[in-house]
Amino acid sequence: MTDTRAAELAEALAVLTARVEAAAAAAGRDPADVELLPVTKFFPLSDVVELVRLGCRAFGESREQEASKKVAGLALEMPDVPVRWHMIGSIQRKKAKAVASWAYAAHSVDGAALVTALGRAAADALEQGRRAEPLRVYLQLSLDGDPSRGGVDVNRPDLVDELCALADSTAGLDFVGLMAIPPLHADAEASFARLEGELNRVQASYQHRLGLSAGMSADLETAVQHGSTCVRVGTALMGQRPLTSP
Ligand SMILES: *Cc1c(COP(=O)(O)O)cnc(C)c1O
Repeated sequence: MTDTRAAELAEALAVLTARVEAAAAAAGRDPADVELLPVTKFFPLSDVVELVRLGCRAFGESREQEASKKVAGLALEMPDVPVRWHMIGSIQRKKAKAVASWAYAAHSVDGAALVTALGRAAADALEQGRRAEPLRVYLQLSLDGDPSRGGVDVNRPDLVDELCALADSTAGLDFVGLMAIPPLHADAEASFARLEGELNRVQASYQHRLGLSAGMSADLETAVQHGSTCVRVGTALMGQRPLTSP
């Protein structure tokens, strides 16, 4: 860790924290209701260590292999700091067991088979003492029906309800809310308004308050305006991602 990089991260984190607070204030919301989730994919463990020193206690990663390496690395380097790792990228079913071994939450769950696989893996991990809590699960919605980017089609409320109910009733999992990424070139305002509407519709079936994982570097203010409780921010904190994986 160079002093320059440490200073860079400290400065970016301060700016970002202020952005989230201002967005919450503008929306008339309590800033404590909006979690800032630093996305560290493509960036080295040394950056994660520095962010922990700066007070961050949760991180988002999008690929299982890269994540599990960092999780293990951080546990070695800072064994006494409790950190929550969030899986935000698409999950292959065969990686369910691995994800359940390190993830506090999975934001990108979008099918019955995946829900079942994650539930089984998390239940096993709980039973064997490898997890202390159920795996928190967000159902990812697709706002444009493009299956290549993942998510359940928001225009299929029957399917959305079915998968939410499945996640809610599967042992080993806690169903905690909805997640979406606005389609490329889509209007963020319209996208997040649609997502908020869907959350309100789904919420009516649940006693516990559901969360909304929405908003990234470029559009977090709009997402917070529409009820986001977790903004996943990479570039605005870490800088531009390299084009190739580490
Ligand atoms: C990479 C990623 C982010 C962070 O995006 P930025 O635009 O860099 O803030 C958020 N969510 C998901 C699902 C991602 O894969």
